[in-house]
Amino acid sequence: MSRIVVLGGGESGVGSAVLAKVKGFDVFLSDMGEIAPKYVSLLEQWEIPYESGHHTEELVLDADEIIKSPGIPLTAPLVEKAAMQGIHIISEIEFAGRYDNARKICITGSNGKTTTTSLIYYLLKNAGLNVGLGGNIGKSYAYQVATEKHDIYVLELSSFQLDNMYDFKADIAIITNITPDHLDRYDHNMDNYVKAKFRITRNMDEDNCFIFCSDDEITINHLDKIVMKAKMLPFTQKEEVSQGAFVRDDKMIVRVGEQECGVYLQELALSGRHNVYNSMAAAIAGKVMNIDNETIRRSLSSFQAVEHRLEKVLSIGDVLYVNDSKATNVDAAWYALECQTRPVVWIVGGKDKGNDYSVLKELVKEKVKAIVCLGVDNAKIHAAFEDIVGKDRIVDTLSAAEAVKAGAGFAAPGDVVLLSPCCASFDLFKSYEDRGRQFKEAVRSL
Ligand code: ADP
Repeated sequence: MSRIVVLGGGESGVGSAVLAKVKGFDVFLSDMGEIAPKYVSLLEQWEIPYESGHHTEELVLDADEIIKSPGIPLTAPLVEKAAMQGIHIISEIEFAGRYDNARKICITGSNGKTTTTSLIYYLLKNAGLNVGLGGNIGKSYAYQVATEKHDIYVLELSSFQLDNMYDFKADIAIITNITPDHLDRYDHNMDNYVKAKFRITRNMDEDNCFIFCSDDEITINHLDKIVMKAKMLPFTQKEEVSQGAFVRDDKMIVRVGEQECGVYLQELALSGRHNVYNSMAAAIAGKVMNIDNETIRRSLSSFQAVEHRLEKVLSIGDVLYVNDSKATNVDAAWYALECQTRPVVWIVGGKDKGNDYSVLKELVKEKVKAIVCLGVDNAKIHAAFEDIVGKDRIVDTLSAAEAVKAGAGFAAPGDVVLLSPCCASFDLFKSYEDRGRQFKEAVRSL
């Protein structure tokens, strides 16, 4: 019996271990840190041997194949050692893909993955199809392959999940956009990051479709350098295209083969230019899957925003509070500011990933009346925007409650208080979800 060692005991790792067990491998799971109680009980239920708090080298390096969780870098010493010994290291997606004949719609990109993935899943569900949702979202893909049966999977794949993917093949691949993010994992080299994203199209052929944003320069430049066998279906807000999706006047139009579907922009449930892109990508995928126009329209107009993505929390005295805690980079915050129609009190800050704030200056000039910094070190935000909003209209805070109070202080009826932080959350919060929830709680107790 060949031996599989899984590194990492989170959603991805435990799902992989369960699938390996179901498929009859000798499985062992090892995690350097603590394993959450929920996963410990799953491992015990499935009688999978594991260790936590350390890696026992002999037990790990004894593997025929290693499944590495996406959170563990390729440069982790034990991973490097395993690779040097010639042990094949794969990702959960690669492993689960071996046992799954379902059609796979895979989504990656710097921003918009979760929104686009959820939209497509919603659309296919509304069409009555037997579809699973996985990857970075909800239950792991591997766990579902082990315990459920679906005809189609919609998978959100981060670039970390695409690393160590070799034979996996998507039927439909989507890259929403590519902007600098997580460069620390790619030797601060944009080209490496772009290539990691494009791994989603590996092994695709003429029968498959590649859906991408043709307004995105980085994507287009890379496409110029490679041979893409899959059918290319671009989406754009800049020009008309014969295949793919574009905007004409107040309508988005989707064309796939001989089929055409139009949806009025004002009918889209999600607001903002970025969500027009996400809706176009989802609608193209829907048309490739032969979903009827009525279901596509109904789905795009009834979809509920995903939590922490431009989520409307409450309106108090005609001041609207919006939670966009998932905006952890400059590009996401740009779109959040761009789609605001009310004067903005902007809550921003956190752990800066090397942000260049200059691209936001014009929008801040046009839309932002006051800034509430929510982070330990706000020096860069002051330097970028203090002159624009004025010294007395920018303050520092250290908690969500303090930030919401300060925001409410600046806001007048008709304004929006927007949490769209541009930064990761780890300086003051456990995660972006924790930051978003604390923000919402603070708003509700105003
Ligand atoms: P991801 O899963 O890629 O992080 P999300 O759908 O969770 O993407 O959205 C993350 C953040 O990016 C949110 O603040 C959201 O409003 C913003 N966003 C969503 N779609 C796009 C897009 N197509 N382009 C730029 N920003 C986007």
